[in-house]
Amino acid sequence: MAQGARASGTTTDSLSDDALRQRVRTLVEERLTQAERHFGRRIPRPEIRFDLTGKTAGQAERGGAFVRFNTVLLRENPEDFLARTVPHEVAHVVVARVYGPATRPHGREWKAVMRDLYGADPSRCHQYDVTNAARRTQARYPLACGCMTHHVTARLVAQVVQNPGSRICRKCREPLAPADAATREVGKAYSKRRPARKKKAAGRQRRFAYACPGCGQDLWLSTTRHNRIQRDGTRYQSGCCRAPFGTEAFTGRQA
Ligand SMILES: [Zn+2]
Ligand SMILES: [Zn+2]
Ligand SMILES: [Zn+2]
Repeated sequence: MAQGARASGTTTDSLSDDALRQRVRTLVEERLTQAERHFGRRIPRPEIRFDLTGKTAGQAERGGAFVRFNTVLLRENPEDFLARTVPHEVAHVVVARVYGPATRPHGREWKAVMRDLYGADPSRCHQYDVTNAARRTQARYPLACGCMTHHVTARLVAQVVQNPGSRICRKCREPLAPADAATREVGKAYSKRRPARKKKAAGRQRRFAYACPGCGQDLWLSTTRHNRIQRDGTRYQSGCCRAPFGTEAFTGRQA
């Protein structure tokens, strides 16, 4: 069904809501591609929602995970919406991905993207806003296994990117892996922000085998204890025979 727009004499006049939304999607993609060429890096695609109501035309999540648009305002003034609102929100996504989510929302980075890259008016408008919603509701990203798509947090994506095979699907027992390149990037970006501790990256703790001087059975020690023995000459007592042992009891085996 065609919805008449109030702005007259434009090519968007007779477009349906669906067609207008498609225009927005296409424009978002074009602007992101443009930014990727400019910055020479990939920018993960935000989820595009059309669920904004009231007087707010557009909204971007601080981390760039999603953008929201107001269909009523899009229909009322398509030209302005496409010329200002869409680049405004896409610029937020670009800034969040390129400079990090802590960057000031309408600071000089954002203004530069708007003006220099998009040739758009960077004056701030009360109809736009930036939301922290993703901090309350964590964004989910797709991981694939052998049977389905799992929607997980960025933290878990980072885990399987850093340590492939560390998570398996309970149903099909296949390892979980990022479902697409954008999700892999999310995992990499997350790891860069919070590098996993050595211990975590190893998946599980390393153990060192010592032979009990009393009975000869294996005593598996943690890295901490192993280091104390090897570095500081510390001696421990075996739990089985209460026999003291030190560096001489190390079997050379570790697991
Ligand atoms: Zn804004
Ligand atoms: Zn599965
Ligand atoms: Zn023993």
